[in-house]
Amino acid sequence: MFGKTLLRRIACSNLNLKSRKLSGKPRLAIVGSGPAGMFACNGLLRKSNFSVDVFENSPVPFGLVRYGVAPDHQEVKNVINTFDAMFEKNRERLKLFCNVNIGRDITFDELTRGYDAVLLAYGSYKTRTLDIPGSDASNVISGSEFVGWYNGVPNASTPDLTTSNVVIVGNGNVALDCARVLSTASSGLLRISDIPGDRLNVLEGANVKDIKILGRRGPEHVSFTIKELREQFKIKDWDSKLEISEIDAKNLTESLPKLERKKKRLTEVLVKNIGIANGLRQCHFIFHRIPEKIIADSNGKVQEIIVKNNETGQEETYPCGLLIYSIGYQTLVLDGVPQNDKKMIDMKDHCRVNMVAACSSQVYATGWCAHGPHGIIVDTQQQSIFVADQIAADFAQFKDSTSNGVEELLEDRKVPFISWDEWKQIDRQEQDTGKLSGKIREKFTTFEKFLTKLKKCN
Ligand SMILES: Cc1cc2nc3c(=O)[nH]c(=O)nc-3n(C[C@H](O)[C@H](O)[C@H](O)COP(=O)(O)OP(=O)(O)OC[C@H]3O[C@@H](n4cnc5c(N)ncnc54)[C@H](O)[C@@H]3O)c2cc1C
Repeated sequence: MFGKTLLRRIACSNLNLKSRKLSGKPRLAIVGSGPAGMFACNGLLRKSNFSVDVFENSPVPFGLVRYGVAPDHQEVKNVINTFDAMFEKNRERLKLFCNVNIGRDITFDELTRGYDAVLLAYGSYKTRTLDIPGSDASNVISGSEFVGWYNGVPNASTPDLTTSNVVIVGNGNVALDCARVLSTASSGLLRISDIPGDRLNVLEGANVKDIKILGRRGPEHVSFTIKELREQFKIKDWDSKLEISEIDAKNLTESLPKLERKKKRLTEVLVKNIGIANGLRQCHFIFHRIPEKIIADSNGKVQEIIVKNNETGQEETYPCGLLIYSIGYQTLVLDGVPQNDKKMIDMKDHCRVNMVAACSSQVYATGWCAHGPHGIIVDTQQQSIFVADQIAADFAQFKDSTSNGVEELLEDRKVPFISWDEWKQIDRQEQDTGKLSGKIREKFTTFEKFLTKLKKCN
């Protein structure tokens, strides 16, 4: 996958990396290269003389921009251009260390000792599980597993898409992304996107004819955004309808005049699409359904889901050969980071972590790891700009840094990290390979060969 010359060049460039001691300049470590970390970094580099090291668990940067945002929403991924420009412009004081897990390769404690400030921006990467009898059946997967798979996450297992009947549990945008990708897969529309070739083949061969999107509560509680919702109703050859009771329809319609503008526009789209789906391919939005049990076939693969209809109190059984649940994310707290009673990072205020007095560096947090897995990139960006301002203000009088960073530790431990220049070479190669088949890029889904080479070189 990687040409020999490229591998040699990339591998040996790591030998030239020396730890920097930029006397005087404060040093910041950012954990996570998603939008939260990158927008904060951008703001801070503009407003201060910080030197910044970014640590990213994945072999490649940008978090959910690469591995979450849907492949038919390429325009959203344009934020990467801002991050590209930031890295190029600040080569002297900004470094990227991909394939480094804070917690495993470097402890949080080591990080605080290596830097004057640490910014936690590591997202919220654990999906809440659907804990009902039978949920261990095969082809019962989380929305983030499915999204990660079609977006090229390394080592993601391939779902079986040969079924006609899909049930998606959850009423947020991830549920809509999954439904839309499944509904558009056979149309060829995704062919130019950045879905890896082998995974695109599986999607294009899918045979899905019926998708049920189930919500626990009523239609007034959906967490969809209007763009994604409209898209589902417009998919060619699919009939998508809100199949709701008369009372829900009446309540939804009557609520319209009282709603604020954003919610009103969303509700208008919902009301406009009340009905019964029919035709060859159908998508049903169904509410007040509580998943109770999953029935597997003799091979252990999901066959049916039993739900409770909360409006009638009756049980209902839906045929289901693929069950995707997207019922939220859990926030994980890194070892050593203080945790509150909600099992989230213990924040002193909107951006400062409540560290014990003895901690040698200032610790901040932003994005989904700090405030929970809510909101789109623009929301994350606003939080990050705020935290950058706060860090810059806290360090305005800072005089002399004696921090050494952790690069030497990484080298001693032979952690094969991927730098900015190495990522750019991978990036170019992905784009060049993609062009050959008319795609935006051909994402690599394995970096093993590449990392093994780096290990040998270290
Ligand atoms: C499926 C999906 C689709 C979405 N689509 C859109 C969309 O179309 N438009 C939009 O505006 N928003 C979208 N969003 C929301 C958007 O992705 C988030 O608002 C944003 O990514 C949150 O940024 P973050 O930096 O906090 O988290 P993330 O993007 O998750 O970044 C966190 C980074 O930290 C890294 N990390 C985690 N643990 C460690 C560790 N221990 N050490 C080092 N690094 C670590 C992760 O690998 C990751 O790269 C979507 C979200 C999801 C889940």
